[in-house]
Amino acid sequence: MKSLILLLVILKCLFATAQYQDKIDFVRGDIAIEPITNEKRIEGTVTYEFKVLQDVDSVFLDAHDMDFSLVRLNDREVAFSNSGNRISISKNFKKGKMHKLKLVYSCTPKQTVYFLGWNVDGINKQKTPLTNTQESPAKQIVANHKQVWTQGQGKYSSHWLPSFDDMQEKVEFDLNIRFDAQYEVIANGELTSDTTNNDGTKTWHFDMQQPMSSYLLAFVIGTYDNQELVSKSGIPIYNYYYPEDSLRVEPTYRYSKRIFDFLEGEIGIPYPWQNYKQIPVHDFLYAGMENTGTTIFSDGYVIDSTAFVDANYINVGAHELAHQWFGNMVTEKNGNHHWLHEGFATYYAYLAEKELFGKDHFFWKLYGTLNQLLEMAEQGKGESLLNPKASSLTFYEKGAWALFMLREQVGDTAFHKGIESYLKKYRFATVTVPDFLSEMEKASGSSLSDFKEDWLVATELPYDEAIKTLKRHSPSLQLNLEMEGDYKKTHYKVDYVHYWNGSPSIHLKKHILEKYEKTIPDDIIQLAFASDTVPIRQMLSNASDVKKYNKLAFESLLTDKSYVTVENALFKLWETYPQDRKNYLDNTADIIGLPSKNVRLLWLTLAMLTPDYNGKNTKMYFDELDSYTDGAYSYTIRQSAFFYLKEAFGLTDLSLKNLIRATDHPVWQFKKFARDLLKELLTDEDYKKRIETVSKELNDEELRYLKSIEY
Ligand SMILES: [Zn+2]
Repeated sequence: MKSLILLLVILKCLFATAQYQDKIDFVRGDIAIEPITNEKRIEGTVTYEFKVLQDVDSVFLDAHDMDFSLVRLNDREVAFSNSGNRISISKNFKKGKMHKLKLVYSCTPKQTVYFLGWNVDGINKQKTPLTNTQESPAKQIVANHKQVWTQGQGKYSSHWLPSFDDMQEKVEFDLNIRFDAQYEVIANGELTSDTTNNDGTKTWHFDMQQPMSSYLLAFVIGTYDNQELVSKSGIPIYNYYYPEDSLRVEPTYRYSKRIFDFLEGEIGIPYPWQNYKQIPVHDFLYAGMENTGTTIFSDGYVIDSTAFVDANYINVGAHELAHQWFGNMVTEKNGNHHWLHEGFATYYAYLAEKELFGKDHFFWKLYGTLNQLLEMAEQGKGESLLNPKASSLTFYEKGAWALFMLREQVGDTAFHKGIESYLKKYRFATVTVPDFLSEMEKASGSSLSDFKEDWLVATELPYDEAIKTLKRHSPSLQLNLEMEGDYKKTHYKVDYVHYWNGSPSIHLKKHILEKYEKTIPDDIIQLAFASDTVPIRQMLSNASDVKKYNKLAFESLLTDKSYVTVENALFKLWETYPQDRKNYLDNTADIIGLPSKNVRLLWLTLAMLTPDYNGKNTKMYFDELDSYTDGAYSYTIRQSAFFYLKEAFGLTDLSLKNLIRATDHPVWQFKKFARDLLKELLTDEDYKKRIETVSKELNDEELRYLKSIEY
């Protein structure tokens, strides 16, 4: 029985594999949709114009779980078959003819479109005014994130639009979206009109002029303001933000225009789309997604200026922007060529960081990723960049390294020339790795077969060649490697001060503090504390033994402009000096921290664990911590709240319910965390009974996971 089920699953997967219709060319797609939030449903109409390239007897579109109420070919109703994941029309299509296919449909997408905050219990129900001040964190009320947004890549746009699971089909799409006029609607392309309808809705019309693959279609609905910038080349850049986050616009989008101008110049080909939009959304599945002209990213990157040093949007923003050329304008034919997307976006984001933060930053970043790749290689898990199933580390970091080394080999001039001719030749088309290498060979006038073998085909990592190249470029890395050798030779009796003072590199100093923490002399620690560089002092906040350090110096970390430093220092000081706990808590009582509220959650926990600390407020603190498990908060906040509750106090009925609800969260890391924690709690008899009791108050959808496991 089991094997039969397995066989059926395999067959289903085979049939579900994207298929390319090479005899048909879909040219235009005119989309009109209306998201119905209370039912999480999409009502839509799409009209495609397609050209028949060769005689063919049927045409199809990928369409998952859709109902079609009308299908018309060239304005006449036509018979169709709907398999549940594909709609097909059988007819003798003659070479050279153009056709128009109109579909009226309805669907309730299980994935790809995410409706957040529309039907909610708990905190979201209260219509409490939003505050976002640092003054009274206890009174902070969560923003009610009523949003609808999409994630096409890996999830398939054919869950909300009859379209193409195969990336090779590129269509010039226009989008019309009808929705409640109170909200902002954002989608690919240029907003050419937003007309008011007589039922309180508006229809937003977005025009695109160039074709793209369906996985890059996107829309976002929510409450937003935007900052408008214009690139040096005249492209409008719209940076979206929640109205309450106006003070966070500058740190969040710092350098946006500089990065845009830099990448246009560096790549040498104008930005290919009409405009560029960046939209933060709540509980996004990934860090960011490069939908055509319309990057969607996690609102966890919407930060204040103190958080800039801890968790900024620079790298993610530059990476998604680079994809607008590498991935969106030239698109891989299939997964064998994924290097052409992720390796390129990662490499160009590093170049943008080099432009902003300097060479030392760039080479240390490469050194860091090289060490990660080395670790993977040493575990025998090295992967070829041409393996479509390779890990992210391979596609992103080995991919960026491959480009860095390619440029080393061919030189800047040939590299630029090759990139330009590759992008020009394949613009708005699909590509393979050999297509790219052939343009590079032409530009450099040399064979790249050794490069291909060493960096793309091989599963091993050319570490020696890589480290030699870094040493050649970076004096501080050279010094670091000398220090490593010296450390081994002298049995840990290195002249640390010599190396510390040997280079102005912040990265070298951080590295020395991290790697040699156990053997480092006091002189270095004093120099580090005396430094006014936040990242250097942050390394000190990780100290394994605070007692070794000067107490006053360590306490000074509590006022550094970094929420990670403050969180580390608060915990370490509270743990080490019980007599001063009240002081430490008083001094940090108003700090919330990163978007994950890292400092606030720790503070609440420590305040409750400190006997006599504002005893009368303990219940208030506890309720606040407990409330952070609610679905209205971002999953990063919820995860920490669950963690502290479990470690220090135990889960309440409220947090148990919230935990069960979290077991179907769309963000897989959090879903896994919630499922693992629930399973662990179920091994405890008391928790098990309480979980059974609270489940009676939850609906079938919320209990789906709990009912699926045996405990
Ligand atoms: Zn990417």
